[in-house]
This record gives sequence, structure tokens and C-alpha cells, in this order.
Amino acid sequence: MASAGSIEQTFVQLEDGIRRLTLSLPTGPKHVHCYVADGTLFDTGLGLGEAPWGELDVARIAITHFHPDHVGGAEAASRSTGATVHQGGLDYAQCERVWGSKDWPERMADWFVRHGTPAVVAEDLIAQGHAFAPFIRYAVDPVLVYEGSEVDGWSVLELPGHADGHVGFLRDGVLIGGDHLLRAISPAVGLYPDSRPDPLGDYLASLERTIELAPRIGYPGHGEPLGDAAARAQGLSEHHRVRLDDTAAALARRPRSAYEVSLELFGRELPQTQRRFAVAETLSHLERLVRDGRASRAGDDNRVTYTSP
Ligand SMILES: [Zn+2]
Repeated sequence: MASAGSIEQTFVQLEDGIRRLTLSLPTGPKHVHCYVADGTLFDTGLGLGEAPWGELDVARIAITHFHPDHVGGAEAASRSTGATVHQGGLDYAQCERVWGSKDWPERMADWFVRHGTPAVVAEDLIAQGHAFAPFIRYAVDPVLVYEGSEVDGWSVLELPGHADGHVGFLRDGVLIGGDHLLRAISPAVGLYPDSRPDPLGDYLASLERTIELAPRIGYPGHGEPLGDAAARAQGLSEHHRVRLDDTAAALARRPRSAYEVSLELFGRELPQTQRRFAVAETLSHLERLVRDGRASRAGDDNRVTYTSP
């Protein structure tokens, strides 16, 4: 018997023609949603453990973004259903760079050290990264989609921010939005090596776009549906404007690394994995401030710092 509160694989009929499949995750929000609409499966979970792909009658798989809990099951889902995988062009390039290259964990670790993270926190990334990567079985050579592409009547929207190549799928006022909008948590928006230079600027623009689109409903990768997607986008936009002010206030005349600023913003007591997210999130806010003239950046390949201007 399952323990109380554990998340089973469940199918829920959300509305005519759209079903939600929930898979459990070992960490974080503890679950991820995939959606099935007509002959399309949206997102594929982490790929660890069992998933009922064999029960699905789908001709296409569409991926919102390359994070492991969305793309990790793509190869298995494609193999057992025979469906073709569709993935954003930029997103697939990043997927290959991160999950398909041998030295990505080292490059991530160097990047964190350059931003002031203690070597012990960064080095932990290397072992973890190498242990984890082989389990992320994304589908090789998917059909690449872009803004304006269509997948079975769903329009592809490029919604960068949470991931540079993040896409959403919109049809008849329904937005299958991956992690672009979540109800209970603010989607992480971090700056990483080889990423677009201003992910928070991208995200704020994607939120504006969502407010204008005002979808009837948003189906997210985690948590409950968003009947008020435009209002949630507005709330997230305001949240980041407050965080930008907090980040500006955490700067001083003395140069500080993103790691040091993150201690101020997120506190000192964080597990190492969360600290890395905190540093990446701090960086996306610092780079936005640099573009607004509210922070200056100095440094080189060895060490980068920020000051108030
Ligand atoms: Zn994600």
C-alpha cells in the first residue's frame, strides 16, 4: 500500500479531449504533469521508474523544455508509442549541450566558481552531474519547432525565461505551458553558461506576452491548472520587480560576487543544490540590473563581481 500523501501515476480528465498524466519525482515538487490531447503527448517526465507509455495512443510527443523532469522520458515514450518527438530548436541545442556533452558538469562548476561559489559547493556538481546525465534519455534528432510552427493545430509559442528555449503550445485558448507559469511557486529563472545573456529580461517579456494572450486556461508542468493565467503572469512579474529591488539593495560599493549577493537574498543556510539555484537566480537578477543601469559588472574569466553604480 502506498503511504499517505505519496503521488501515484494518475490520469485525470481535465476537459473534453485533454487528459493529465501525473508522474512522481524523487525531489523538488515531487510530481510532474504530462498532458495528452488527441494524439499528442506533452512532456515525458524524468524517465526514472515506470511510466504508462504503452497505454497511450499518440502519434506525436511535444516537449516544452529540456529540464530533466520534462525531457528525460522522451526516448522511452517515443520508443514505446512510435510517436515522433517535437522540440524547440534552441531548446534541443541546449539539451544536447547539457545532457549530451562529456564536460558540461566541469564547465558548470567553473562557472559557479567564477561567480564566487566556494569550490566545495561547485565540485559537488561534477560528481552529481556525471552520475545523473546518463539517465536523461532525451530523444535524439527530434522535429525542431519554432515560434509560428504548428503541432497538430497547436501553435508553438517561444516563451524564454525559465529555460532559454522554453516553448508553450496554444490551441483554442488552452496553453500547455510547461514551467513558464506555475501556481504555487515562482519558476526558477537562472543565468547559466552558454545561455542567453538576460534570461530575466526574456522572462518578463514572456510574462507580458502571456498577459496579452490571456489564455482561457494554462496547464502547467507542476501544480494545479491556471484558470487565471494572465493574473498569475502579472503576479510573477511583480514578484520579480520586488526581487530586483531587493537585489539592488544587496549591492554595495565594494564589489560582491553573485554568491555573496545570494547569501544576502536567500540566507546562509541552504543545501548545496539549492545554493546553486540561488546563485543562478541571483545572477539573472544582477544581469537585468546591469542592463537597467542599476548595477555594474567587473571581472574576467576567473572572477566576476557586481557593485552598485
Ligand atoms: Zn523546468
